[in-house]
Amino acid sequence: MQLVCSRRCGGRLFRALFAEVELDSGGEYQGHRIAQPGYICLSCGAPAFDLSLVPAEMQAEAEAEPATPATVDILCPVCETLVSVSGEEMECPNCGAPLEV
Ligand SMILES: [Zn+2]
Ligand SMILES: [Zn+2]
Repeated sequence: MQLVCSRRCGGRLFRALFAEVELDSGGEYQGHRIAQPGYICLSCGAPAFDLSLVPAEMQAEAEAEPATPATVDILCPVCETLVSVSGEEMECPNCGAPLEV
């Protein structure tokens, strides 16, 4: 784990927002478990995040959403079918008329 403040204030202490603390029968702290990620910086109160997780998450997002080219919806001038066109030229899938963006 590599926690950093999102404001980069240089704070070195963080608080886990979703931690479960284990106690003994006398209420003495024995250990803890992070239930789910969620941290704040103790010196400025800004959200903090785990730097070691960020690249993996960004990679997962990039894999989940392949970059799609921007499409434009235009009406075919011949048969008035609404066609999503990406790139410069395309034919109407309905009647084969050439479409221009
Ligand atoms: Zn901070
Ligand atoms: Zn058409």
